Amino acid sequence: MPLPPLRLQKNEDRRLRAGHLWVFSNEVDVTATPLTGFEPGAPAEVFDSRGALLGSAYVNPHSLICARLISRGGGRTLDDRLLAQRVARALQLRGRLFPDEPFYRLVFGEGDFLPGLVVDRFDEVLVVQITTAGMDRVRDSVISILREATGASGILLRNDTSARSLEGLPLSTEPIGDVPERLTLRENGTRFSVSLTRGQKTGWFFDHRRNRQAMRRYVPGRRVLDVFSYAGGWGVQAAAAGASEAVCIDSSAAALDDLRRSAELNDVGDRVHATQADAFDALRDLREAGERFDLVVLDPPAFIKRRKDQKQGEKAYARINQMAMEVLSPDGILISASCSYHLTRDALLLAMLRASREAGRELQVLEEGHQAPDHPVHPAIPETAYLKSFIARLE
Ligand code: SAH
Repeated sequence: MPLPPLRLQKNEDRRLRAGHLWVFSNEVDVTATPLTGFEPGAPAEVFDSRGALLGSAYVNPHSLICARLISRGGGRTLDDRLLAQRVARALQLRGRLFPDEPFYRLVFGEGDFLPGLVVDRFDEVLVVQITTAGMDRVRDSVISILREATGASGILLRNDTSARSLEGLPLSTEPIGDVPERLTLRENGTRFSVSLTRGQKTGWFFDHRRNRQAMRRYVPGRRVLDVFSYAGGWGVQAAAAGASEAVCIDSSAAALDDLRRSAELNDVGDRVHATQADAFDALRDLREAGERFDLVVLDPPAFIKRRKDQKQGEKAYARINQMAMEVLSPDGILISASCSYHLTRDALLLAMLRASREAGRELQVLEEGHQAPDHPVHPAIPETAYLKSFIARLE
């Protein structure tokens, strides 16, 4: 049976033809094909205003992004064949990237041509987020295909992300099969203990793996400060790579509990100190106490979640960078990151430059980092390239 058509208005096909996968609700010719005719998650074929096929999609009439393309061909749905093919391809790629450490982002939504699906792999356990009605419809197939492809013994559905609300989907978390409360992962050879149920997002921020690897060479014998440390991805790894001390600051007690366990796991508990505090307060207190660090890591939560936060957010990045510089020793290394898609790499660099002028220090950029390759970028969808970081030296 042919799929129902979704027709776009004149010229609204350009973005899709340029490679994008999204249709916005104001681009649809609702006279010809009313959105109200679609159930959330229903399949459709998308056509331009002249009736030429653009591809197959799934639709959500309640969402601003009212359709997401799943194929450039006609008649395709998220059936088992398509899902299994895409999951297999994603898995194959990760196998090549990380043959010895099966801990990574296995599926990165649009970046893996699976809009609405995020999967993080912790060896035998998968943490899955389904964020769209179209993907939610095939939830059971997704789970069985993932299990079959990876041999996972357990899957934790972390469907508690706010993205689901935009699609009118309920929030919940649900263990399927054998999901331990806590597990151990390895990153760049360092071991981490994480609680999957208490963890933020999917439990671990795999996207900085390469940037943390790049950090390692700067830390031997140095005193390190890890601000917004979460579970110690940077700080514990710095201690494991030979830092003389790693001071870690985060507002989450649960994250710091994981962090301390991880420090013990790597036999660096005596060199890792975790403090629960607001980062801005803690940096001020450290400065006033005259504390100095040879390397500071600043990897904050997204300060710019929406466009309207732009100005405020940019100020927050500049301020926190300046505060970090004020506790940085002469000849110190600053690693400054942002996961806000709305803050470009140029804007982050500018925030760092301004902060360095305020602090009266000269800034040298040594290295630039991005999200790790298990977060593939879809070049037509700028939102898929969100992570940026710099390793800089300050005179
Ligand atoms: N650097 C971490 C990821 C950071 S996620 C890593 O590499 O894994 C952001 C972290 O900032 C979260 O752990 C959150 O608890 C913490 N956080 C958010 N606002 C904060 C604040 N004002 N002060 C201190 N920590 C904060």
